[in-house]
Amino acid sequence: MIENFELQGHAWLKRLYELRVKWCPAFSIDIFSARIRSTQRSESMNSILHQIMNSFLSLIQVMQHYEEKAKEFRQIELNQDFRCKNGAPNKVNGHGILKHASNVYTLAMFKRFEKELIDCIGLNCVEFSNIENISLYHVTEDGRERIYYVEFDVPNSIVSCSCNMFESLGLLCRHALRVFLMNNIKEIPEKYILRRWTKKAKSLLASDFRASSAHKEKSSCLLRFNELNHIGYNLFDKGSLTPKCTQIVKEKLFEALHLVENEMATMQEANDSEISKHTPFQDAINDGNERSSEKLMFDPVCVKTKGSRNSQMKSQFEKNQKKKNKEGNALSSFKR
Ligand SMILES: [Zn+2]
Repeated sequence: MIENFELQGHAWLKRLYELRVKWCPAFSIDIFSARIRSTQRSESMNSILHQIMNSFLSLIQVMQHYEEKAKEFRQIELNQDFRCKNGAPNKVNGHGILKHASNVYTLAMFKRFEKELIDCIGLNCVEFSNIENISLYHVTEDGRERIYYVEFDVPNSIVSCSCNMFESLGLLCRHALRVFLMNNIKEIPEKYILRRWTKKAKSLLASDFRASSAHKEKSSCLLRFNELNHIGYNLFDKGSLTPKCTQIVKEKLFEALHLVENEMATMQEANDSEISKHTPFQDAINDGNERSSEKLMFDPVCVKTKGSRNSQMKSQFEKNQKKKNKEGNALSSFKR
């Protein structure tokens, strides 16, 4: 196109072409991105915020609307979790691999997998070569010239397709599934089930946190909250299965709540006694090295912001006052 329009010397286009690896999807097709375009996430967020906001809202109203929307999304997620957990989707009596997919994938990912599996039935698949148990297949679609190359290592159940869908999305493509069908594979190999697309994705996160909690002493309040949240999710997930389990969870939670409240009360008492030992004035006289929790706080330095109209307002106010005084004087002189 550059040659057609004789733009070889255009500096901006030349630079853009040199950086093509960074912006052209063809060069990043083998990198996992869940098929999300770079700006897609922020665009969808923008669209949601535009629905709930306008220029007449105050900051507090904006936050209230935002929290309402966030609550709505969390509820949708909870409903989806519930639907995924409680039973497999319909139409799972078909092929073994479809049944396996319905057991492991979330509903949304199962639907995508199901579509790929249905579409794979109409593909033409020919074994091109077989060297040391590694088969190469040519997969084509009716009416299209493009050939997809699928390599399948039968003993190790390793499959790779030239379309790179698994690498970018984490889900097997129709071409690989076509080869699986030809080889009568009844289950998705473990290595091709991405944990993030499974029903157990959230419960597995808790164990990850436990493993990586070596730095929990240094972690912030929010990180600790997230860690507890994931452990709690796992606990409530299992605890709600039977009445007995629910009872155990409730008893232990009340026990834990009691312990935590005692701990907080002890900390508060220790804190109060520490404060009573040091008055702010004494601490100010000392250089403050010994203090850890109490620090003197001063009002911030007032700085006039750029574009401030205080001076103009003041002068206007003064002008008005002067005007009033003048009028008052004139009136008083008239009265005289
Ligand atoms: Zn493919």
